[in-house]
Amino acid sequence: MNHAEVLRNTDRCVKCGLCLPHCPTYRVTQDEGDSPRGRITLMQGLMSGALRDDAAVRRHLEGCLGCRACEAVCPSGVPFGSLMDATRASLIPPTRGAGLVGGYLLRHAGARRVASGGLRVAGRLGLGRLVGRVGADDRPGAARAASFLPDVAHPPRLSAPGRPAAADALMDDVRGTVSLFSGCTAETFDGPSLEAAARVLRRLGYRVVLPEGQACCGALDHHAGRAGAAAKLAGRNRAVFVGGEGPILSLNSGCRAHLQDAGGEGFGDRVTGLCRLLACQDLTPLHLIDAPLRVVFHTPCTLRHVLREHGLMEALLRRLPGVELIPLPDNALCCGGSGSHMLTHPRMADRLLAPKLDALVDLSPDVLITANVGCGLHLAAGIRRRKLAMSVMSLAQLIDSRCGLPRPASWQDEP
Ligand code: SF4
Ligand code: SF4
Repeated sequence: MNHAEVLRNTDRCVKCGLCLPHCPTYRVTQDEGDSPRGRITLMQGLMSGALRDDAAVRRHLEGCLGCRACEAVCPSGVPFGSLMDATRASLIPPTRGAGLVGGYLLRHAGARRVASGGLRVAGRLGLGRLVGRVGADDRPGAARAASFLPDVAHPPRLSAPGRPAAADALMDDVRGTVSLFSGCTAETFDGPSLEAAARVLRRLGYRVVLPEGQACCGALDHHAGRAGAAAKLAGRNRAVFVGGEGPILSLNSGCRAHLQDAGGEGFGDRVTGLCRLLACQDLTPLHLIDAPLRVVFHTPCTLRHVLREHGLMEALLRRLPGVELIPLPDNALCCGGSGSHMLTHPRMADRLLAPKLDALVDLSPDVLITANVGCGLHLAAGIRRRKLAMSVMSLAQLIDSRCGLPRPASWQDEP
């Protein structure tokens, strides 16, 4: 969107204010500059040249979570998410050393693997606790980042692409191939979820592959205004997936929303989520157990306001026998995780998380489910801080944990 298009679209805002009570940042600060209407006015000022790009304007714009709750309720159809992306892209992005290192890691799987290995060692040595003691975890920095170390996990261990998994040989009826999108989080946080998804899908008769050479989905760069960097990542992923066939499964709603929007033909149009993929599937081959389990589910903003598939997630969860299902109260309000927001704006992120944690104290579930890894990390860190006894799982991990029959030995070796 160029300047003229941004201005034209901001003019669709009639300043009615209906979006204000739905905006998480405005609810906290009660500052018009932190509301959708206020941010649209700032965009208009910037794009028309009436306002300078100064620290105060940036603070309000950078404070936006990108949750798009405002867009979902706007009667005038203001495309707030696209407007914010275009506005951020028109501001000069700050260049920092950490940004360059982070960008390199987003693009290179080998480097991510090495970095994740280092994080796992640091976690085992208790360095996270040490850094947390000497620094403040409510400010951006090492102590805040270290609060997520306990969730660093092993990379996914799946069969090589193109090679039929041992489990496939056990299936009479291979129903097609599902390619897993691992993005940048697989080596650090998503390994167990990807393995769980592979086990579930193989039980249902799919061949599952994890193509090599994947990069970050590009959502972080895109929403931070780094359109060129996001386009490079999309190109790298397209090269990995285009030419293949069958669905591409992305377990994280944030990655999925971006991939479906920016991935294009032969890639983005094949991307799907677990709740959509399993929506019409017969789950009988999973032999789901019928044991009582109290599950609270959290619906990430990308699932609810962007993909609008929170109903599919709930419907799938309701098909699990024995599960007592409870929605996390105020699920339409962002938890504060929002990509890197929990690192860059920790105080606001924790203010938004607090009522969710209060609700979890009252509800006391066995398991909290979420459909996005970033929200999961933010929620899990809060749950640890409050010393609550519950697991945080992805949808794939929950379904995998409810599969009844013992797994064939080859499935354990090769998830
Ligand atoms: S609801 Fe839509 S039209 Fe009304 S103030 Fe918010 S963005 Fe503008
Ligand atoms: S995207 Fe979310 S945080 Fe940003 S203005 Fe809209 S409702 Fe508020």
